[in-house]
Amino acid sequence: MKTQKKSTRPTGARKAADKATPRPRTQTIAEKRRTPAYAAQGPDTPLAPLRIQRREPRPEDVQVEILYCGVCHSDIHMARNEWGQTIYPVVPGHEIVGRVTAVGNKVKNFKSGDLAGVGVMVGSCRHCPNCRKGLEQYCTDGGLVGTYSARDRITGEITQGGYSKKIVVHEDFVYRLSDKLPLAEVAPLLCAGITTYSPLRHWKVGKGHKLGVVGLGGLGHMAVKFGASFGAEVTMLSTSPDKEKDARRLGRTNSRSRAIPSSSRSSLDISTSSSTPCRRSTITTRTLACCLPMA
Ligand SMILES: [Zn+2]
Ligand SMILES: [Zn+2]
Repeated sequence: MKTQKKSTRPTGARKAADKATPRPRTQTIAEKRRTPAYAAQGPDTPLAPLRIQRREPRPEDVQVEILYCGVCHSDIHMARNEWGQTIYPVVPGHEIVGRVTAVGNKVKNFKSGDLAGVGVMVGSCRHCPNCRKGLEQYCTDGGLVGTYSARDRITGEITQGGYSKKIVVHEDFVYRLSDKLPLAEVAPLLCAGITTYSPLRHWKVGKGHKLGVVGLGGLGHMAVKFGASFGAEVTMLSTSPDKEKDARRLGRTNSRSRAIPSSSRSSLDISTSSSTPCRRSTITTRTLACCLPMA
């Protein structure tokens, strides 16, 4: 029977071999917090890959691995600094859907593995009258903290959005999602969806109402679908005749193309405009604000 020979390799040679195949190095905290993203470096540069750093979850934070992110026209406005408030580099994206991968030790409503959504806000003062009413978008003490290109209230770090692999957000600005929903289709509900759903609910739009939707963009698309599903008679007004077919498909709507007819002035109860910035339409008795959700 053969006995196994003890290695006769000199210690020096072993050391050299160890150097040639280094053991996997443990990641530093900074490396662990880094995540791939797409960012604009300036108003004229296209989005390009960039590694950004996410913070270590604080006690009330939820860390989300991003699975889907909608593209909102605001993302384009911000990437191009068309509203004059962009802080570069900017990672856009505020229609975020993903899975929770870590939670802080005081988080009550989420655990690892849950599905989660993040919209346009990731913070506010939390104590002003509006914040206490759940209207954080109207925070009167410093305003809301946007999901990107805003300053975190605690550290001052610049927030970065959902065109990335992961995000860390206070649990109060994270939404629970059912695993029965088609996740890619949920993402646009987090901005375009809530922006139209909320005012339509606020004004109790439904059966017996005539709803006018100005423009069939991201928001208009949602408003047509919600309006029709709430039972309103929906009229889509657009300067693009080729959108007529889509409007009919989305909401069984009347669709009027080209210029908004002056005869509409008295024929609609409520209108919603999907143009940004919001302009009050002159054609209706009531026009819904569209930039921020209402209660
Ligand atoms: Zn948006
Ligand atoms: Zn507030």
